[in-house]
Amino acid sequence: MLIVQKYGGTSVGDAGRIKNVAKRVCRTKEAGHDVVVVVSAMSGETDKLVNLAAEVSENPDPREMDMLVSTGERVTIALLSMAIHSLGHAAQSFTGRQAGIISDCFHTKARIEKITGERLREALKEGNIAVVAGFQGINEKSDVTTLGRGGSDLTAVAIAATLQADYCDIYTDVDGVYTTDPNMVPQARKLDKISYDEMLEMASLGAKVLQTRSVEFAKKYNVPLRVLSSFTDNPGTLVTAEDSDMENVVVSGVAYDKNQLKITIVGVPDKPGVAAKIFSVISEANIIVDMIIQNVSEGGLTDVSFTVLKTDSKRIMDVMKKIVADIGARDVNLEEDIAKVSIIGVGMRSHSGVASQMFSALAQEGINIMMISTSEIKISCVIEAKYTELAVRMLHKVFELDKVA
Ligand code: ADP
Ligand code: ASP
Ligand code: MG
Repeated sequence: MLIVQKYGGTSVGDAGRIKNVAKRVCRTKEAGHDVVVVVSAMSGETDKLVNLAAEVSENPDPREMDMLVSTGERVTIALLSMAIHSLGHAAQSFTGRQAGIISDCFHTKARIEKITGERLREALKEGNIAVVAGFQGINEKSDVTTLGRGGSDLTAVAIAATLQADYCDIYTDVDGVYTTDPNMVPQARKLDKISYDEMLEMASLGAKVLQTRSVEFAKKYNVPLRVLSSFTDNPGTLVTAEDSDMENVVVSGVAYDKNQLKITIVGVPDKPGVAAKIFSVISEANIIVDMIIQNVSEGGLTDVSFTVLKTDSKRIMDVMKKIVADIGARDVNLEEDIAKVSIIGVGMRSHSGVASQMFSALAQEGINIMMISTSEIKISCVIEAKYTELAVRMLHKVFELDKVA
């Protein structure tokens, strides 16, 4: 079999852990499999580099940012290859460029366009373990790009799809995908399997155990994806196509996201074309908007609220100043202390009353709902950040996620 394994930051956090990963990789090789290993930077390294950039510049150039943060993964590929050599196996490290990972030009959030993978195929053919730097690629000009935070998951899935691997195994610091973050809720239960669609919602609603785009990619190319622990041999979670058992569970997970902020434009003239103008200027600035609400208008004026990522806070306020002046709105407010809590489940498609149950549960704890958004398989509410943990624990209990289905 050909197996792609990915080890995250905590799993390669120090020399001892890198040696532990080397042992696991060699064990897979000794079982007779071909192995491609994708690794992240050592834990905390990417954050350290991002903070360094902030110390020298208020608004670092995205191209230079990628040049900087891509170095974290170069350290781990070299160290892991050396550790594998010490165990008597052949291994070669590859940067994104050497692995042939070609992306578009959007620095710091580039999308993979194709993977040539020739060097990887060659290395495997010669009996090597191929060790690839996660999170990075190159654009058409050969400049280094990065794939967004958590992007090593995407590198692994995309390589697995290209090489038609039998499995893409994501090794991390928990032993699978849980009903909610096990580091927040001790009663969280590990799922044996989860559908691509539910995992996609969980990830995009804040469960950072898998990067959202990696799940999108896995679904598109039907990559058999497993989430496992790099510290134990417990069976993990299989992320796979939906089956009929999954539909019987109404709510399968709770997620939270504290990385967004809420903007309200006050006193917006309520006439055709205004919303289009606001959101086209924001999208031209390449800022992604999540939830949007517009209030009932009074005296021809209305308020428009929406959420964006906290990392875009400076840029969005610059854009807002321009928009407020252009459309003749009264003011703009920013609220940072918000969180989004969500419930997810494919079974919601065929069950009614789930939303009211969620809203009542939040009301019972005295938690005010500021925004709501729904899709076929999820309901999200924006609340005050200080209630996040309370809300997540309580929703987990109300929907009986601690009990085996
Ligand atoms: P890595 O560095 O290995 O990529 P991450 O920190 O990105 O690991 O992701 C693993 C973390 O995801 C866990 O430590 C856990 O706190 C968090 N997490 C959030 N939601 C979930 C969930 N539903 N199931 C499992 N882990 C989750
Ligand atoms: N090192 C990168 C990050 O911290 C990529 C990853 O870990 O997946 O976001
Ligand atoms: Mg991660």
